[in-house]
Amino acid sequence: MAAAERSKKPMDWIVEGNVIFQRVVERKRQGLRVGLVPTMGNLHEGHASLMRRARKETDEVVVSIFVNPIQFVQGEDYETYPRTPEDDRKLCEGEGVDAVFAPNVEGMYPSGWSTQVQVNGLDQGLCGPRRPGHFAGVATVLTKLFHLVPADLAYFGLKDYQQVKVIERMVRDLDFPLEVVACPTIREADGLAKSSRNAYLSREERRQATVLWRGLSSAADAVEQGERNADRLRRRVADVIAEAPLGHVDYIELVDAELLTPVSTIDRPTLLALAVTFGRARLIDNAVLIPKEAIG
Ligand code: AMP
Repeated sequence: MAAAERSKKPMDWIVEGNVIFQRVVERKRQGLRVGLVPTMGNLHEGHASLMRRARKETDEVVVSIFVNPIQFVQGEDYETYPRTPEDDRKLCEGEGVDAVFAPNVEGMYPSGWSTQVQVNGLDQGLCGPRRPGHFAGVATVLTKLFHLVPADLAYFGLKDYQQVKVIERMVRDLDFPLEVVACPTIREADGLAKSSRNAYLSREERRQATVLWRGLSSAADAVEQGERNADRLRRRVADVIAEAPLGHVDYIELVDAELLTPVSTIDRPTLLALAVTFGRARLIDNAVLIPKEAIG
């Protein structure tokens, strides 16, 4: 469908699961390809990039907005997570989104709900042990969203690299008839990955938070120059992050980019993943390091 023709239609804001389901089924019956962009709202340029990619590759774009309580671990920011429905509506309209699915918590988890989806193995490292139950919460809500919005393609950001791997595995293991599309991380001009949680940063924390990107870049440069030792790379990144006195390292890990298991030598595509806390904001970021012998 031509872009101009699509943008004339008003965007629908749908709360009921059965309403979005019927709509998507109907669109698919008409032969349209449907793309889903799952989000927790407070939308920014990172989310918008997923919507644009979905618009390019599909005929009907559905954005879901749902702050999913079961993926927040005790003590995390579920209650205070930024909720900005009016701004989100405008951003989606501006991106030519066809429908927003914004269920409420009672609709998704009615009383008596008691089923969870657990993807084993991939949650052993990185954020898994630090956020127990988080990935089961993600896998469970996405299982529900994939059923309620039976899209052909679903779009995710590689900023949440471990999440992408968990979802890809779940889709494969449970035979969801859907393709997962992993999209690049969108950054601020100084390299900080865009994130809803950046809003928690004070001015000084925001200034220091560039150490994540600088640490990743420094490791990528070292690999380019021939460094292959994971411990030395980790120390190098830790030294850069130590330049930010307000930052507290949660982890700096080097893992196989597919299996997410620890590596000691960079002899294959390797994920360098970081989690660093600044005040109330726990920031994550990552880069895939590819030694030149593993290219081609
Ligand atoms: P969230 O609303 O934080 O759950 O994110 C919804 C989706 O947007 C996830 O697939 C994220 O990985 C993706 N996303 C968030 N921030 C970015 C970013 N800076 N660049 C690309 N994708 C992002």
